[in-house]
Order: sequence, then C-alpha cells, then structure tokens
Amino acid sequence: MKDTLQKFLVDNAPVRGELVEISDTWQQVQARRDYPAAVKTLLGEMLAASALLSANLKFNGMIVMQIHGDGPIKLLVVECDSELQLRATAKLADGAAIADEATLSELVNATGHGRFVITLDPKDKLPGQQPYQGIVPLDGDSVATVIENYMLRSEQLDTKLWLAADGKVSRGLLLQKLPSEGGINAPTTRAEGSELETWNHFVMLGNTLRREELLSTDISTLMHRLFWEETIRVFEPAHPRFHCSCSREKVGNMLKMLGREEVEEALTQMDKLAIDCDFCGQHYEFDAVDCALLFADTLSSSEAGQARH
Ligand SMILES: [Zn+2]
Repeated sequence: MKDTLQKFLVDNAPVRGELVEISDTWQQVQARRDYPAAVKTLLGEMLAASALLSANLKFNGMIVMQIHGDGPIKLLVVECDSELQLRATAKLADGAAIADEATLSELVNATGHGRFVITLDPKDKLPGQQPYQGIVPLDGDSVATVIENYMLRSEQLDTKLWLAADGKVSRGLLLQKLPSEGGINAPTTRAEGSELETWNHFVMLGNTLRREELLSTDISTLMHRLFWEETIRVFEPAHPRFHCSCSREKVGNMLKMLGREEVEEALTQMDKLAIDCDFCGQHYEFDAVDCALLFADTLSSSEAGQARH
C-alpha cells in the first residue's frame, strides 16, 4: 500500500484535518541503519508531522524540522518539500545507551539546551531572501505538543496533533480550528452550541486515539471510527515518498568549502576521500585527481575574476 495523506473538511463545523500514513518512505529512511526503539518513535513522529505541516501550510518549498539535542541524541533532521518528498536522519552521541521508554526531554533536552528548529525554505527565493526560521521551545513532553505550540505561535491557529511511530509505520492525525469568518456570513448550523464547543468535541474525538490503535489501524478505518457521526468531505489523497537530493556535485561543493589545504592533508592519509550521504547512504568517492579538478575549477574562476579587474 502506498504512503497516503488524506485531507478532509467537516461539514457544518469550523474544522479541517489530515490523516497520514507513512510506511514505505519510513522503511527507506531506516535502510542500512538500526536506530534504537525510542529514536524510531521520535524520528518517525517527526516524519509524519512534517508531512502534515507541509500539506497544511501549503507552503511552496521545503520544511525542515531539526532537533539539536544535548542528550544521547545529537541531531534529528526531517525534510519535506511541497510534493511531500521526504528524507530524514538521526545522529546519536558516541556510545549512547538509549532506553526504550526514554522521554523526549531525556533524549534531547537532558540539560535544558536542546533546540527544536523549524525552517521554511521557499522554493523560489527572491534575491537576498532568507528562509524563515522558528526556534520552538522544547517544553512539551512529545513532538506533537511542541509542534502544536509552534502552530499556535506562528500561525495563530488552534492545531492538535496525534502522532505514533514504530519501526514499521508512522501515522498521524492533525485537526485545525478554522479561523472564524465571524458575523452574519458564518452562521453555525449546529444546534448544540458555539464554534468552541464544536472544536472541543473534535479534540475529544482525537483524544480517544491510543498509540496502539494509531500504530495498528489504517487511516481509512481510523477516519470512520473517529468521525462516523459526522459528514466529512475528503480530498484527493496525496502520496508522501522518499527522495534524497544529494549529488556528486553537492558533495564536491562541500569539499571545496572545506578548503584545498584540508582536503590535501586528508589525501596524504588515504588514497581517496569516501563520503556517505547521511540521508540515503549513497557512497561518494573523490581521489587525488577528482580533488585536484575541484580546486582547479575554483582557481580558474577566481583567476578569471581577477583578469576582469
Ligand atoms: Zn542522499
């Protein structure tokens, strides 16, 4: 079954939502790695969250979620573009022992120096335009809570997330209270009360979801179980998938940034430089000739620059 993201609207209620189910993509993220169970939970939940956010914000560009941890986990990175192409990776501290039941703060905020950074990097940047970066306090006990706080602060929208992941699958539900249109244009047709009561009713439905249920139930069954009493309008489903944007050229640019001296120094220790992509495991090699060519390029372009002066 394909990985799927399903958007929906509730009729007669100021609520929209999304359900996502990521399995194939998640397996590709984990290929050639064996993360401890608690890391799988965290990274998997971030994967679902980034797809939900990307579809929710309708932002044309890349959403990058990073947790810089100060505990046994050093770094968690998930990237999702507007086509729902995802990649993710985790870096653990050397010799880290990670208990299955470790909490978010034990894993990444052990001494209060952990940081959760969400970056929105537009696809077609204007000259000089910087990505929007938000540093989110790691004050929740779950990825879902931390992102809910972010959404409230950055979008001023009530958003609730329920996330669960294990080694096999990552699933999530997002519910969002639509901004009130106010006045006479938006009468609530529900007899039972105000928009806030309606919203609270939906949050309560979401709160009935248990982790085990999220992990073991496909999203169309979840949709039915949660909202069978509601009239739900579903949209054409989208399909998240794995994609890594690494290339030989990008690795070459990274070596150029390191500088000629450092690269030549490294080449005195070994025949060739071997670099594996952190996201997909793709192996790249640069021998002395390749490296000389990299820096020959740099040299000729700077010479050309000087010649023009
Ligand atoms: Zn790669």
